[in-house]
Amino acid sequence: MSLYIYNTLTRRKEEFKPLVEGRVGIYVCGPTVYGHSHIGHAKSYVSFDVIVRYLRYLGYKTLYVQNITDVGHLTDDADEGEDKIEKQSKKDRIHPMQVVEMYTRSYFEDMDALGIVRPDISPRATGHIIEQIEIVQALMKKGFAYEKNNSVYFDVTKFKEYGKLSRRPLDEMEAGARVEVNPEKKHPADFALWKKAEAGHIMQWQSPWGMGFPGWHLECSAMSMKYLGVPPNGGIDIHGGGMENQFPHHECEIAQSECATGEQFVKYWIHNNMVTVGGQKMGKSLGNVINLKDAFKKYSPLVVRFFILQSHYRSTLDFTDEALEGAAKGLEKLFNTVRNVRAEVLKMQKNDGELKIEDGSFIDLVGFKKAFFEAMDDDFNTPQAIGILFDLNREVNTILASSKTDIKILQDVDALYNELGGMVLGIMPAHVEAQSSTGVSQNDLIQFIIELRTEARTQKLWAMSDKIRDGLAKLGIIIEDKKDGTSWRRSG
Ligand code: ZN
Repeated sequence: MSLYIYNTLTRRKEEFKPLVEGRVGIYVCGPTVYGHSHIGHAKSYVSFDVIVRYLRYLGYKTLYVQNITDVGHLTDDADEGEDKIEKQSKKDRIHPMQVVEMYTRSYFEDMDALGIVRPDISPRATGHIIEQIEIVQALMKKGFAYEKNNSVYFDVTKFKEYGKLSRRPLDEMEAGARVEVNPEKKHPADFALWKKAEAGHIMQWQSPWGMGFPGWHLECSAMSMKYLGVPPNGGIDIHGGGMENQFPHHECEIAQSECATGEQFVKYWIHNNMVTVGGQKMGKSLGNVINLKDAFKKYSPLVVRFFILQSHYRSTLDFTDEALEGAAKGLEKLFNTVRNVRAEVLKMQKNDGELKIEDGSFIDLVGFKKAFFEAMDDDFNTPQAIGILFDLNREVNTILASSKTDIKILQDVDALYNELGGMVLGIMPAHVEAQSSTGVSQNDLIQFIIELRTEARTQKLWAMSDKIRDGLAKLGIIIEDKKDGTSWRRSG
C-alpha cells in the first residue's frame, strides 16, 4: 500500500515520495490574525492536522511549519488597500501588535479545542524581515525584480512558468487586469515584494529601498525555506492552504522562490475547499461568517471536528444546524459502542476467571484496519475512513448483544478505536465519557436511572419500575435483569 496525494500542481493523484527518505517537510499558510477564527479556518486546519497525524502514523519524521501572518496582508488580497492588521488596530485604537497578540492567542485557543496538534514551528512574518529582504536582494541581483519609487516588484515576464499552479496564462491576466493598475508596475500581473511605507504606516522596517514592509506572499517563501530547507538540503514536500490561495498567493510564492533558488519550491501542493453556510458562500460582506467561539456554544469542538472530517478536504462543506446535529448523533453512536466495550471489559476483569470464549465472536480487525488505511492512502479520504469505523461499530454491537464475547477481542477492539479514531483522526479521546457532546455522560445518566429503578423494585413499586423500563426502551435502551444485577445495552 502506498499513499496517493492529489497534487494541485499536476491536477492528478500521485504516489507520495518524500524528497528525503523517511522525512516530510510540510508548510501550511497560517491565519492573518486580525479577527477570531471561523469555521473556514477549522476546516482547513483540521484537514491538515489529520494529514500530519497520518504521515506521522506512517512513520515519517514530519516537520510541520505553519506561519502567523502579522504584517503585509492587504485588504484586497493583492497589492492594494490597507494592511488588514493596521486597519483593525485603528478601529480598536490599539497597537497593531496588540491585535496580533490577541488574535494569535484566540486562534490557538480554538485550534487546541478542536484537538489540533500544534505545528512544530509557528513563525511570524514580522520576525523574519531580514530573511525576506535577502530574497528580494537575490531576485534583484538575478534580474527578476525591479525597484520603483522605493517599492520592489517581481517581473512576471521574466519567469516563463508563471501561472503553472493556477493555470492562468499571462496574456489572459493582462487582458483581465483592472483598469486602475498601479502605474509603478511594468506588467499588470507584477506583484510587490517590498512596499514603501506611506506616511502614518506604523509597521515599517529599514531596507535597502528605504522604510517599508514586505509583500504578503514573500513571508511564506522566506519562512518555509528557512525552516524546511531547499533541495538538496531538505525542501518542502507538501505546501498546503485554502483553494482561494492558489492565485495570487501561491503562484507568487512559486515565482519568487524558484527564481531566487533555481530549485523546485514544492513537490506536492494540497488545497482544501471552502465552507458554505446553508448553500451560500461564507464571507464578511455577506454577514454569514460563523466564528468558532460562537459555534462552540452550540456544539462541542469535537462534534465540529467530526463534522469536518465527514467530508473530504477537497469537497465543500455546508454548515447547517441539521448537519451539525446529525454529526453530534453520529459521534455519539461511535462513542456509545466504545463505552460499552470499555464497560464490558471492566466487568469481565472483575469476574476474573469467568471469561466467555465462544465460537462466532470473531471480528476481522486486521481487515478493518486495512480498509481504513486504504481509505486514508487514497488522498486522505476521511469520510470513507469514518464509514469503516461505523462498519466496525455494527459488528462490535452485534457481538456485544450476543454475549459471545471474549475479553481479548474487546481489548483489541478498544485499542483499534484508539489507534484509528484517536491517534489518526483525533475524534476519539481516550476518555470518551468526559467528551460527550452534551457535556454530560449518557452512560452515567443511564446508570443513575437504572439505580432509581432498582430502588423502586426494592420498594416493590412494580408499576414505577415497569414505567422506567418501558421509557428507556422507547429511547433505545434495553435493560435486562439478571442474577448479578441489571445490565443495559443499546438496541440496534
Ligand atoms: Zn502563505
